[in-house]
Amino acid sequence: MGRLFKVETHLHTAEGSACAKSSGAEMARAYKAHGYDTIIITDHFFGGNTAVPKNLPWEERIDRYFKGYENAKAEGDKIGLTVLPGMEWAYHGIEFLTYGLPKSWLCAHPEMEEWEPETFMEKAHMMDAFIVHAHPFRWSDTPMLYPLYVDGVEVYNAGNPDKANELAKDYAARFRLPTTAGSDEHNHAAFRGSGMAFQTPIATISDFIRAVRTNQPYEALLSDGKWSK
Ligand SMILES: [Zn+2]
Ligand SMILES: [Zn+2]
Repeated sequence: MGRLFKVETHLHTAEGSACAKSSGAEMARAYKAHGYDTIIITDHFFGGNTAVPKNLPWEERIDRYFKGYENAKAEGDKIGLTVLPGMEWAYHGIEFLTYGLPKSWLCAHPEMEEWEPETFMEKAHMMDAFIVHAHPFRWSDTPMLYPLYVDGVEVYNAGNPDKANELAKDYAARFRLPTTAGSDEHNHAAFRGSGMAFQTPIATISDFIRAVRTNQPYEALLSDGKWSK
């Protein structure tokens, strides 16, 4: 078998996420140094721990939301790392990693702040977005689940206790939902590193969505450095 292509599916930047310590550029350099091919920036959206002030015009908020991605992408272009845009949409602590929503669409929908998860997912699906329930069992063993709405489940999150990841695996298996793995990195100086390693390169967000949707085989990169199926 040829080499594997390492993809980070879940990470935060200080430009977009109030809880993150590292800039997009610092994150890009750290992932390059750890041998990744592709990273997807998934800053907290406005219902979560956003770094973007609420009292600005909507379009300016969206502009600022994408700063972490844009800074990571500029650095990635220099050092040879593919950087793709994603999002971690939140509703009262329930979080959905969302891939494939264009900035122009977000700019056009300021009313989305009022949407409940079902509405958000219906509208995002009309844009062919791919929605993954992030760390579903992190806070509770009886969380709100949306198996009829989500496209996938994050079954390994480096910030989760093992038990929470095991429950997420059971959930995905029960509903035959595609799975993802990611680190939820917030600080490059405390790099854990996780993600998915595919047999084919992930050069665009559509490549990533297709690979997950079609259950393309991958190896989950665990934060202790061991690989597993
Ligand atoms: Zn966070
Ligand atoms: Zn996160």
